[in-house]
Amino acid sequence: MPSISAPECNVCGGTGWRPSAESGAKGPLEPCECRERARIDRMIESAGIPTKYQVCDFNNFLCDWEGARNDSLYAAVKFANRYLDEYPTAARGLLFLGPPGAGKTHLMVALIRKLCEKGHDALFLDYQELLRQIQNSYNPAAHTREYELLRPVLSSAVVAIDDLGNNRISDWVEDTVTYIVNHRYNENLPTLFTANLSEERMDGPAGHRVTQPTFEERLGPRVASRLREMCRFVEMRAGDYRRFKSGAR
Ligand SMILES: [Zn+2]
Repeated sequence: MPSISAPECNVCGGTGWRPSAESGAKGPLEPCECRERARIDRMIESAGIPTKYQVCDFNNFLCDWEGARNDSLYAAVKFANRYLDEYPTAARGLLFLGPPGAGKTHLMVALIRKLCEKGHDALFLDYQELLRQIQNSYNPAAHTREYELLRPVLSSAVVAIDDLGNNRISDWVEDTVTYIVNHRYNENLPTLFTANLSEERMDGPAGHRVTQPTFEERLGPRVASRLREMCRFVEMRAGDYRRFKSGAR
């Protein structure tokens, strides 16, 4: 049973009640502020942010890259903040696009933390892990049914899917992702994504194809086109970007 207050609170000693500022110790008690902090902590906990990203917030997101100001990272933070201001009226979700190390997941986690603080229920999902769990649920021996597993993915106010399209497409993956994405789109529920995919096929130097898969290749044309309708694409040109641009990967 989760606590309604912070057990270590030195205002109320973990009781959740404190003397009121006006009437002092002899007057009636009122709810302690730590209840609100405890509520936010529970929401953040139930968002399922992986341990390694739990420290990520806007304050420790760095917009400078290799000692220089990186305009794409500043712009990404601006879009994330605008999204927060406009939520829940923002019609579209956000898709953070860029190579590993650009800070996509950090920024997405920072955003869902803020949404949790504002009282919205958000859910962080790793794309590969989500597909693995859905696939396992087809196994009659598994205890969770597919629908039970999908329910929070389909109905949470905000869903954040990390590393979209990071494995090869199959008909099954295409159908599953189409279902999730279409459902959330039709219900006007925004979805946030990070992806390391290319918007178009890119050719490396001297005719060598850069092995950067496109949205179409990894997710199929239906999902690719729906994503462009339902999300603003925010490109983050940092991390391995330079290496990628030079065709070295
Ligand atoms: Zn307290």
